[in-house]
Amino acid sequence: MTPILPSEVDVLIVGAGPAGLMLALWFSRLGIVTRIVDKRTDKVFSGQADGFQARTLEILDSFGIGERVWKEANRMFEVSFWSPNPDGRIQRNSRAPNNVASLSRFTESVLHQGRMESFFLDGITASYPHPASPTHEIRVERMVIPTSLSIDEKKVDNDDAYPLTVTLQHLSEEEATPTQRLSNLSDGLFRSNLANDDVPSMIEQLNGRKNMREEVVRAKFVVGCDGAHSWTRKTLGKDFEMHGEMTDFIWGVLDIVPITDFPDIRNRCMVHSASSGSLMIIPRENKLVRLYIQLTEVSAGGGRVDRSGITPEAIFKAAQKIISPYKLEYHYCDWWTAYQIGQRVGDKFSKSDRVFLAGDAVHTHSPKAGQGMNVSMQDAYNLGWKIGLVCKKILHREILSTYELERKQIAKELIAFDHKFSKLFSGRPAKDVMDETGVSMEEFSTTFNMSHMFTSGIGVNYKPSALVAKPPEHRIVKSHLEVEADQIAAHGRAQSSLFLATNCTPGMRFPSFQVLAQSDARPWQLHRKMPSDGRFRLVVFSGNISNPTRQRLVNDLGAWLSTDVLSRYPLMALSPGSDPHTSTMKFKPDHYPSIIDVLLIHTAKRAEVEILRDLHEVYHPFDPKLGWDYDKVFADEESYHDGNGRAYEGYGVDPDEGALVIVRPDGYVGLVASVEKEGWEEASKWFQGVLRSI
Ligand code: FAD
Repeated sequence: MTPILPSEVDVLIVGAGPAGLMLALWFSRLGIVTRIVDKRTDKVFSGQADGFQARTLEILDSFGIGERVWKEANRMFEVSFWSPNPDGRIQRNSRAPNNVASLSRFTESVLHQGRMESFFLDGITASYPHPASPTHEIRVERMVIPTSLSIDEKKVDNDDAYPLTVTLQHLSEEEATPTQRLSNLSDGLFRSNLANDDVPSMIEQLNGRKNMREEVVRAKFVVGCDGAHSWTRKTLGKDFEMHGEMTDFIWGVLDIVPITDFPDIRNRCMVHSASSGSLMIIPRENKLVRLYIQLTEVSAGGGRVDRSGITPEAIFKAAQKIISPYKLEYHYCDWWTAYQIGQRVGDKFSKSDRVFLAGDAVHTHSPKAGQGMNVSMQDAYNLGWKIGLVCKKILHREILSTYELERKQIAKELIAFDHKFSKLFSGRPAKDVMDETGVSMEEFSTTFNMSHMFTSGIGVNYKPSALVAKPPEHRIVKSHLEVEADQIAAHGRAQSSLFLATNCTPGMRFPSFQVLAQSDARPWQLHRKMPSDGRFRLVVFSGNISNPTRQRLVNDLGAWLSTDVLSRYPLMALSPGSDPHTSTMKFKPDHYPSIIDVLLIHTAKRAEVEILRDLHEVYHPFDPKLGWDYDKVFADEESYHDGNGRAYEGYGVDPDEGALVIVRPDGYVGLVASVEKEGWEEASKWFQGVLRSI
């Protein structure tokens, strides 16, 4: 299909990096009319970000592209800590797992950003044709920059208006191609914070150019995903300046295939040398290894560094010094860059809830903790369904304000973590306990080991809002550092004092455990039945439905849901291609009966339950073309081949009590309530606060 580029769009995305592509993927799944522009000629091909955290992999899996990353990436299981012995020679001090077991079914994995960008582009293409936007397809428009943005404040409260006007300029290939330091080796210096922003000079050049291709686009929403130098953020004015500081720490990065006798080269390693700086080793796919190397001989002297002296050779020499007496050489270098550690975060993430900022456009920090790309994608994951469902008039528009509430908190936690981690990693190791200016190696490894809940992305715990109904004792949201110790002690699962589902905490992601499909005994990770398709999930933990009283309760709930809830929130043509794990697009329903998808998990003996005979139709909805849906009812039972998922135990639900859990379209718990009648009203109120009813 030849793409049609409309001049009136629901959303204009500026920037097609990880944040912009995540948004575009959401909008492709929801059938939202979207344009996405990027100033560069092409996507990233090598280098740049490479660490995928567990939560990011869960999110990518929910779109059906996680398996591709999981398959190609190098998975990191162990981390080694090296520091000087009393003679000043580096030695391995300790080893630890790189991930906490049981946090997620995924572990931290490494693959370069360019591969992931390809998977996103394929995922977007796979969403079409889409019944909600039959003539429109999202594709990245390259070599395009916005040069002006205006907001008609009189129209921002009008759902049908296009209050934003943006001028787009098309660049020549030469203008859009970044200069590289060396002709034979690609670098990432042009994206580094050591480089100046090139957009102002691009705009200046355009002013003098004849035959410019310029167009005006009107949009309901604009999202600036345009990275650390964000034009969108700067255009919004002074209130949107970022706050924070640059440090004097300069680091270089090399992606090489190393030839070395250093024994832990295929492990993640943190190496502190006595006086030559620090080094982090990240083993990657295809025998590549990424080295983050502290450049102690390049000084920023309190300001911006002179980067002309930074070459791959100089960076490599610094690495050899740190790792000595072990030998280090290479024949193949894939990519290199350098950066100055700085931590900055914006005060405001949105203007009038019409223009939003996501990713590096609104928070930046050092890349070593493998967070930037992950947090950037997760910003966009949080925002995408909200804008999409507002465009479809399904969600109250006020819900958009939860984006800043939820993601600013995470950005601040990220900056606080990075500040602590960078200081400990870039500091000189203490010679002994009396050496107060040196860094304690024990404190460094403890900080790293304690940070898994946060760095994996699993520890995210959003504040109370219309979307997050916290029980009173949970209204004060502790920082990740405060809760981490408790959570790790509790085998990595967040403990809620709400007794109904103790491991489902409103504001945190709904965990995944194995359950058995009632219809065919196939074991499923429950996440697999909750794809990112824009729907809310009501998970009914019914307990033993062989018990007649329980069965009656669950069926009364079904009847009430069907007449009083689902019919108020119907839904047409949301996303037929969105369930990537079960079957092909051809056999998807043309529409879903409701924006709320009901899933039932019971503890009865599977053999004693018949779906059609025993359960209300809400648990097996009927489609005139496809028949009954047998994919909504699951047993918590031993499988034939894959063991027992013990889902009730995992979710912390007492089978005699049961529970209702509302899960938002991004997989975060919105409400935990009783499966008895008082819980139904709570659930109904929650939906009323979030969704527009007919
Ligand atoms: P970007 O990736 O910067 O994307 C912005 C996009 O917008 C670009 O495509 C750019 O061309 C485009 N653009 C910019 N201005 C304009 C404009 N005016 N008009 C149109 N288009 C525009 N993060 C991790 O999570 N894990 C890691 O392991 C990791 N390692 C890293 C290693 C290095 C060496 C570096 C430098 C970074 C690393 N990061 C890592 C950080 C990560 O790369 C960034 O945080 C992430 O790319 C941010 O994504 P983004 O989409 O917000 O911005």
